[in-house]
Amino acid sequence: MISTSFQSLDDVLKEFDLTMGLEVHAQVDTKTKVWCFCPISVGQAYENHYVCEICSGHPGTLPVLNEEVLNKAIRLGLALEGKIAPKINFDRKNYFYPDLPKGYQITQFKNPIVFDAKMEWDHTDSKKIIRIERIQIEEDTGKSTHHQDYSLLNYNRCGTPLLEIITAPDFHHPDDAVVYLKKLHAILKHLHICRGNLQDGNFRCDVNVSLSPKGATKLGTRCEVKNLNSFKNVEKSIIYESIRQANLLKSRGKVLQETRLFNMQEGKTYLLRTKSDADDYRYFPEPDLPSIFIASSKVKDILSQLPELPDQIKNRLQSDYGLNHYDASLISQSFDIVHYFEECVRNSSDPKNYAKKIANWILTELFRFLNEYNKEINDSPVRPKELVELISILESGKISHKQAKEVFAEMFDLKKSPSEIIASKGFEQTSDEGELKSILEKLILNHPKELEGIKSGNARMVGFFIGQVMKQTGGKANAQLATELLKKLIDQQ
Ligand code: ZN
Ligand code: MN
Repeated sequence: MISTSFQSLDDVLKEFDLTMGLEVHAQVDTKTKVWCFCPISVGQAYENHYVCEICSGHPGTLPVLNEEVLNKAIRLGLALEGKIAPKINFDRKNYFYPDLPKGYQITQFKNPIVFDAKMEWDHTDSKKIIRIERIQIEEDTGKSTHHQDYSLLNYNRCGTPLLEIITAPDFHHPDDAVVYLKKLHAILKHLHICRGNLQDGNFRCDVNVSLSPKGATKLGTRCEVKNLNSFKNVEKSIIYESIRQANLLKSRGKVLQETRLFNMQEGKTYLLRTKSDADDYRYFPEPDLPSIFIASSKVKDILSQLPELPDQIKNRLQSDYGLNHYDASLISQSFDIVHYFEECVRNSSDPKNYAKKIANWILTELFRFLNEYNKEINDSPVRPKELVELISILESGKISHKQAKEVFAEMFDLKKSPSEIIASKGFEQTSDEGELKSILEKLILNHPKELEGIKSGNARMVGFFIGQVMKQTGGKANAQLATELLKKLIDQQ
């Protein structure tokens, strides 16, 4: 049993420096596998259906690199400001595991396609910079499922292309790890490199966690937690590992180098295998694949087709539309949301004035409904044109904000236009100046005390009058117009 002198991450961080490096395996979104022409199986597929002699490792077969994988690796490297290797090689990583029928994995050891990349973001008053040491192309393994007294193997996933993205040990807090992963995930999806479905294992993360006494220059012994498939699990496993290792260091003076697995249900990590420093994978150059020279014209081509990146979009949303930092970050988190937002702005009569209001409606009402109905923004029943129509009706003063929300809910449910719903609900606001004026005049006559209140500077009394107007019109009065009229009437007295 480990003693429990450390209970929380804060406890640990008082005595130790936490250091982490992250490795992400992202499945590349291609039609076919990396070395053969088998289709990539997406979702439910018959077991061992998408398998051929090459990806199941029959002797005498030869792999051929799928160029789309290479192009997407370069695309990611450029987006992360990395260097693209002029010449790449593939290597064999030898190990036996039942889900790897060849007995080795083809990966990149010596000359990966991308090196010296980085990810940065603003962090309170400084800039966080995470060094990405390398991005390598490799193949995924099959999948085993373990039952009571037997195991099943499904080789459909064998040879699915992966990009492994490896950082330097630049993380010192789980929050930074989560920010990095979310940003990387967004870029991969945004550039159509990876489908990014975490629950399907499209994007998996390994975290190397180590502790060293505060201020020490030498890093402590690390443990690797493998195959985390949610941001929350990354955070939880780092916290669990930090506490576990701190208690071990306190009680036994050392941590053993291990590979561990995170158990979601229990929120704990478990030993998978102990690991020596030089894992003997007997790497050697893959003899069945030639070296590939990357033409600079190819890199230039891919660079010229690189779309605007999330950070660039965020800055543009702030400068072009005057959105604040927070709204701009939320909208720029996905290309689909940006498209929706800009489509709304294009449809509005006064983009400068409407952009902030549109952003507000998207981030509050629309997001709330999408969440509730578990829909993506592209499947939203309320299309940009209709959302803008609703906002302009609201701005014109025909309906109140509360009514607009009700209309929005029906637009989402019934896929009807806002004007149809407003008509069917009888929601038209009373903007009839004559009617409002006569109501107000009577109110002023009947409530001299409240009128004196306004005149002596009690702004709350304005609310009293408007409340009365609302009451008499059944909530249909245009409150803004009524307020203006009230002021006019008082000034005239
Ligand atoms: Zn195949
Ligand atoms: Mn790997």
